[in-house]
Amino acid sequence: MDLSFTPEEQKFREEVRAWVKENLPKEISHKVHNALELTRDDLQGWAKILGKKGWLGYGWPKEFGGPGWTAIQRHLFEEETALAGAPRIIPFGPVMVAPVIMAFGNAEQQKRFLPGIASGEVWWSQGYSEPGSGSDLASVKTKAERKGDKYIVNGQKTWTTLGQYGDWMFNLVRTSNEGKPQTGISFLLLDMKSPGVTVRPIKLLDGGHEVNEVFFDNVEVPAENLIGEENKGWTYAKHLLSHERTNIADVNRAKRELERLKRIAKTEGVYEDQRFRDEIAKLEVDIVALEMMVLRVLSAATSGKNSLDVAGLLKIRGSEIQQRYAELMMLAGGPYSLPLIREAMEAGWQGNFPGGNPALAPLTSTFFNMRKTTIYGGSNEVQRNIVAQTVLG
Ligand SMILES: Cc1cc2nc3c(=O)[nH]c(=O)nc-3n(C[C@H](O)[C@H](O)[C@H](O)COP(=O)(O)OP(=O)(O)OC[C@H]3O[C@@H](n4cnc5c(N)ncnc54)[C@H](O)[C@@H]3O)c2cc1C
Repeated sequence: MDLSFTPEEQKFREEVRAWVKENLPKEISHKVHNALELTRDDLQGWAKILGKKGWLGYGWPKEFGGPGWTAIQRHLFEEETALAGAPRIIPFGPVMVAPVIMAFGNAEQQKRFLPGIASGEVWWSQGYSEPGSGSDLASVKTKAERKGDKYIVNGQKTWTTLGQYGDWMFNLVRTSNEGKPQTGISFLLLDMKSPGVTVRPIKLLDGGHEVNEVFFDNVEVPAENLIGEENKGWTYAKHLLSHERTNIADVNRAKRELERLKRIAKTEGVYEDQRFRDEIAKLEVDIVALEMMVLRVLSAATSGKNSLDVAGLLKIRGSEIQQRYAELMMLAGGPYSLPLIREAMEAGWQGNFPGGNPALAPLTSTFFNMRKTTIYGGSNEVQRNIVAQTVLG
C-alpha cells in the first residue's frame, strides 16, 4: 500500500489550489471559516462557479461531461476546496442522484437531467425518509400508482434537507405491495413545482430551517421519469447510499475545523492547559486515522484491489469526529459559548459577542446542528449493524 502522492498528483494539487484561490469568493470563504450561515445564493453561486469550470460533477467520468479524475485526484480536490473554505457541495444532485442516472437511467434521461446537475442550475432534493420509515427504508409508503403514461403520487416525505430550494426531487415510492417490501419500491424523479406538492419547514434545535416535510397530493409524474425498472428501486437506492455515507465522513472539513478549534483555544487561553491540549491531540489522532482509512480505500481502488465495504465505517467515525470538534470548541469558550444567538450566524452581525470574542458567538448553534450527524445518512447504530454484518462477517 503506497500512501504518498506522486509528483503528478502534487502538481494537480497545486493547480486546484491556485484555481480555488482565484475563484472562491472571499465573502463565502469568510463565512465558512467562521461557521456563519450560508445563503442559497452562496451555495448555488459556488456550485455554478464549479459547474462552469466542469468541476461540480468532480466525481463524474468524462463520457458524462465530468473531468474523469482518479480517486486520488478527487480526494485532493476535496481537500483543497475544504481547506480553502469552500462550502460543501450540496450532494443531492452531483454526488447522489447523478451516479444513479448514469448507472441505471436511459440515454434520454441522462441527456435531460445531467447537464442541469453539472452546471449547478437545478437544485435536487432527496425523498427517501418518511414518518415511520427512516432506518427501515424498505417500509416506505408513499404510493405511486400507474395510470396510463403517468404515475399518481400520494404520501409524505420528511427531513428533506434544503427542500425549500428544491427544483427536482428523487424519491423512493411504493409501486407494489406484493412480496418482500424491498421488491415493491421504485425510483421516481419528481418536479417539485408540480401541482399537489407542498413543502413545509421543520425548525431544528439550533433554530435553523434546514429540513422540511414534503407532501404529495395526487401529484402527476410522467412515467418517463421512472429510473430503470419498476419495483427495482431498492437496488438503485443502495447504490446511492454508499455515495452518501462516504461523502458524510468529510475528513477534509474536519481538518479545517481542527485548525479553527486551535485558533479558538489559543484566543481563549485554554491552549496552554495541558489537559485541553491532550483532548485536541486525541481528536487530531482520530482525524489522521480517518484520513488514513480514506487513503487506504483510495489506494486500494487505484491499484485495482477491491476496497473493503467501509462506507459505513467512514460515516461512523467521520460523524463522531464532527461532534467532538463542536464539543471541544464549546469547552474552549466555556460559559461564553453557551448563549444560543441565532443572529450571530449571519455575516456582519454587530451584536454583543460573548466574552468579547466573535468566534464564540456561533458555537452553540453549530453544536446543536452537529447532533444530526450521527442520525442522518443512516443512523450510526444502524451503520454499526451493517458493518458488523458486511465487514466483520
Ligand atoms: C438533519 C437531517 C437531515 C436529513 N436529510 C434527509 C434528506 O434530505 N432526505 C431524506 O430522505 N432523509 C433525510 N434525513 C433522514 C435520515 O436519513 C433519518 O433520520 C435516518 O435514516 C434515521 O431514521 P429516523 O429518523 O426515522 O429514525 P428511526 O429509524 O426511527 O430510529 C430511531 C432510533 O432507533 C435506532 N434504531 C433504529 N433501528 C435500529 C436497529 N435495527 N438497531 C439499532 N438501533 C436502531 C436509530 O439508531 C435511532 O437512534 C435527515 C435527517 C436529519 C436529522
